Amino acid sequence: MESTYLSNLAISVEKQGPARITKASFPLRYGRYSEIRTHEFEFLFNLNGEIKFIRGLNASWPHPAEQLKRTDGNDWVYYSVGDDSGEKGIISWLGEYYLPCLPYASNSIWEINYSSNPDVMNAFAAWSQLYGDLYGCSKDRLHFKAKEVIGLILNNHDGVLHKRSLSLNEIIGRRISVLPPDTRHVDYEVIPLLISDGCLYHCNFCCVKSRQKFQTRSRTDILEQIGRLKDFYGRNLENYSGLFLGNHDALEAGEELISFSASEAYSAFGFGRLQGMKPSLFLFGSVHSLLKSENNSLEKLNQLPYNTFINIGLESVDTPTLSWIGKPVDEPMVREAFKKMLDINATHKNIEVTANFVIGNGLSADHYQSLRELLRNTPVTSGRKGIVYLSPLKDSPKKRELLPIIHEIKDQSKIPVFIYLIQRL
Ligand code: SF4
Repeated sequence: MESTYLSNLAISVEKQGPARITKASFPLRYGRYSEIRTHEFEFLFNLNGEIKFIRGLNASWPHPAEQLKRTDGNDWVYYSVGDDSGEKGIISWLGEYYLPCLPYASNSIWEINYSSNPDVMNAFAAWSQLYGDLYGCSKDRLHFKAKEVIGLILNNHDGVLHKRSLSLNEIIGRRISVLPPDTRHVDYEVIPLLISDGCLYHCNFCCVKSRQKFQTRSRTDILEQIGRLKDFYGRNLENYSGLFLGNHDALEAGEELISFSASEAYSAFGFGRLQGMKPSLFLFGSVHSLLKSENNSLEKLNQLPYNTFINIGLESVDTPTLSWIGKPVDEPMVREAFKKMLDINATHKNIEVTANFVIGNGLSADHYQSLRELLRNTPVTSGRKGIVYLSPLKDSPKKRELLPIIHEIKDQSKIPVFIYLIQRL
């Protein structure tokens, strides 16, 4: 549909981008959305009329490929291209063309405080201005579809968006404090469904854990979440192709509960509509839950109508390091889990297991040495599957002091290595 003009606003009621979220050096546009442009800014709204992206269009905006993105948790994340998008730039550290700059404390290797940039902050003022303009203008002569979109946008002012994020937390029972790194493949756009709470380990170093002991949710609870999530996402459900089964160790919940939840969600969320592409299923696992997963259970997961990504926190192949960070596993277990990850990736086409290792302040030379050796001597039989993520400890340097060690590990590794930035939903 062509743009409608209202004063200085160009309104595109509905635009259609590709359903599949691809990696691109220019801002991602996917699914169906509405767009309003002024001379200075581009505003994108989802199918419920909720603001999703803001990008500056004039010369004072930091970079044409940078933008602000609002998450379903109502955080505004600034996507920066950094200062070097070449081979050794952001794409080589993160596997993506942008660095998400978060408005809360995380484990970033390079902290960019976007709120100190007046040009970026102007975008928020422009959003308030746009809201006021839409509210105050006469809509009499507009096409009914444009009126409808403006009505939806006006229904979703900042107060409503905040309440909606709280309502999402209430539906699933908590806020998601961390998403698996693999959710970057769908730009962190996942529907969360909690099938368990707590975790097995309660590691000392972890900044996202809950105090709860591991416990699965009942099927009744899961079905209730699915029903309420379907209502919550409404029309915009069609723009999602990723499901996150939470929380910190959904693999421990067992194949039956995972398959039940994934299958029920598949029908309820209409993932079958994604012609020619499979939706993605993301979950965390632990060393213990991975080691006890039997081949027949994994094969059942492999048969689900998803591409399934299971992320495991291995952290180190050095027992003293594991005990220093307070992770109750040892080197032989981690080695066995790593080997199992490679085996699953080689034998189960629709499952990709990925692993996290820590980097940062206070870690010993033995930790780095053993990690480099592990990755250097990996037999590669699983193609490009089985990514290793390096996760900076929270109190590590915030700028790029860690990059040399990251590049050293990457250069020696036979499998892809990227950085894991902890993001919440
Ligand atoms: S690192 Fe994982 S297993 Fe350890 S406490 Fe945090 S969430 Fe739990």
